[in-house]
Amino acid sequence: PSGQVVYCGRDMQRTYAMIKPDGVRRQLTARILQRFIDKGYRVIGLKQLVIPRELAEQHYAEHRERPFFGELVDFITSGPVVAIALEGENVITGLRAMMGATNPKDAAPGTIRADHATTIGENVIHGSANEEDAARELGLFFGDAELLR
Ligand code: GDP
Repeated sequence: PSGQVVYCGRDMQRTYAMIKPDGVRRQLTARILQRFIDKGYRVIGLKQLVIPRELAEQHYAEHRERPFFGELVDFITSGPVVAIALEGENVITGLRAMMGATNPKDAAPGTIRADHATTIGENVIHGSANEEDAARELGLFFGDAELLR
């Protein structure tokens, strides 16, 4: 009937997470995925890939003018990453909280970056900053047919 609302759970969101080349190299993939599952998030897309330079530049477009942009793109393309599509209640801010601060020295105890990262350049994990970035980044790394429904 018209006006019917299909209720899918409060604040259900999708976001883009990525284990960076340092995390993959150090065999952290399984442990990080387990944290997401333990938190109650659903892994709806997953693949390991070496990011082509052009895709890396698109992904980090907002940092194009920063002095570390070249370093950032060199690093993120330096080896395989694991691209992850996550679904869950408030998963965008939830993932950011699990990651910890950008600089691992400032990351709260128990966060992924506090536990596993040492430098701001190689900080193990990426997570979309907000809804707009989440939609954009999921679109860059996954086609609809690659995601669970
Ligand atoms: P994030 O959202 O916490 O990942 O942080 P930002 O969006 O601000 O920055 C994106 C990524 O750029 C960070 O995860 C860092 O790995 C990297 N980055 C930020 N600042 C620096 C810096 O001063 N030097 C280098 N090499 N990388 C940086």
